[in-house]
Amino acid sequence: MVQFKKLALPDKGTGIEIKKGKLNISDNPIIPFIVGDGIGLDIINASMIVWNEAVKLAYNSKREIEWFEIFAGEKAIEKYGEPLPEDTLKAVQYFKIAIKGPLTTPVGGGYRSLNVSLRQLLNLYACVRPVKYYKGVPSPLKNPEKIDIVIFRENTEDVYSGIEWEEGTEEAKEVIDFINKEMGTKLEYDAGIGVKPISRSKTKRLVRKAIQYAIDNKKGSVTIVHKGNIMKFTEGAFKKWGYEVAVEEFRERIITEDELYDQVKAEDGVTPVLKKGVFKSLRGGKPAGNPGGRIVIKDRIADQMFMQLLTRPDEYEVIALPNLNGDYLSDAAAGQIGGLGIAPGANIGDTVALFEPTHGSAPKYRGLDKVNPSSMILSGVMMLKYIGWIEAAELIEKSLEKAFIDKKITYDLARQMEGVNPIKTSEFARAIVERMK
Ligand code: NAP
Repeated sequence: MVQFKKLALPDKGTGIEIKKGKLNISDNPIIPFIVGDGIGLDIINASMIVWNEAVKLAYNSKREIEWFEIFAGEKAIEKYGEPLPEDTLKAVQYFKIAIKGPLTTPVGGGYRSLNVSLRQLLNLYACVRPVKYYKGVPSPLKNPEKIDIVIFRENTEDVYSGIEWEEGTEEAKEVIDFINKEMGTKLEYDAGIGVKPISRSKTKRLVRKAIQYAIDNKKGSVTIVHKGNIMKFTEGAFKKWGYEVAVEEFRERIITEDELYDQVKAEDGVTPVLKKGVFKSLRGGKPAGNPGGRIVIKDRIADQMFMQLLTRPDEYEVIALPNLNGDYLSDAAAGQIGGLGIAPGANIGDTVALFEPTHGSAPKYRGLDKVNPSSMILSGVMMLKYIGWIEAAELIEKSLEKAFIDKKITYDLARQMEGVNPIKTSEFARAIVERMK
């Protein structure tokens, strides 16, 4: 059994294992959690009430999560004298799945972002963000219910790799000199320089994960989003390698948009029409060229994708994209369904998954029992779906939606509506639980 310096394992429960590439979950899995800083305690307390009650009701008390507290951020500094102790990394690696509250990044003091460190040290290369509308939530869109998308953002490379040199430094000059002399470019000497690496292997593992997700969750399409018309060997290559992994590894399960187009055209003898992102035969019914309802692999240029997310979001189900555009698109999409306060997230690697709300630690609201715990609650819903406890996950989603419809909402959503009195974080959790029965 795994040994920790300062952590006491729960008396009951078993660790999650991976057997033949599949998660092996008992009725009492041990799942580590990190409370987080700032509002972390407010939202995790509320979420635990909701998660535990849903599991109990969905499985007639036959299943129960054995929560195991591990530490990062301020609580870790108190206990270990450092913000990200080895115990914590070891526990997440060993138990495969964990959930965390937001962590404050101390300004100064030489600490890097704990969130970034966790992702890098645990090799959590896919940032997964489901974007789904729940009735009753104020949205800037006319038809927000058309959105039900899962975004897979590459988490480790692109311009986020941190390779850059400040304008005027020796390093920047040396790099510019080298490129100008050896590569024939004409870069200005007063430029700052950043490097944008996008690799074949890291692109493929991300797109592979997105396609596997689409298969496991019976989604109809995966869209590779890129800016390859301008950045051919990075963004363009992302698209090329994305299609490559689809065709090489999932040939029997996928059809590319071009193939579908050609097949439908051949069957009808006329140009097919594009409906809901799929080429429909003019004879109607199911797309003629898509036998067995294969997953359609398509690609869109990033600027187009931003527009279509607003105008035709129901044509997209799973989206895979590089780091920078993924960062922009996930927040833009979250804004369409009510903001970061209700958008959940996860960072997932080959064997480990860490679920977390998308917002930060909002320190000014700490302990006020005021903020919206939905992002945290829904990150738990993602986790329940990930371990296959679908009934509990769906029970939470339905009850949460009922609470929104009944205008049982926290201040952040109430201020966007007229004449609605906000309720507290803990009251919101109780409102959800009351609607489970
Ligand atoms: P933030 O904590 O997300 O808060 C910004 C604003 O968003 C809050 O002032 C509040 O808006 C609103 N908000 C956030 N969470 C909310 C919730 N649950 N319910 C209702 N409203 C919510 O962003 P920040 O102030 O930029 O960052 C604070 C700290 O968190 C920083 O140290 C940052 O590094 C860290 N951070 C951590 C993570 C993470 O752990 N994954 C992510 C992002 C940031 P109003 O003031 O308008 O009410």
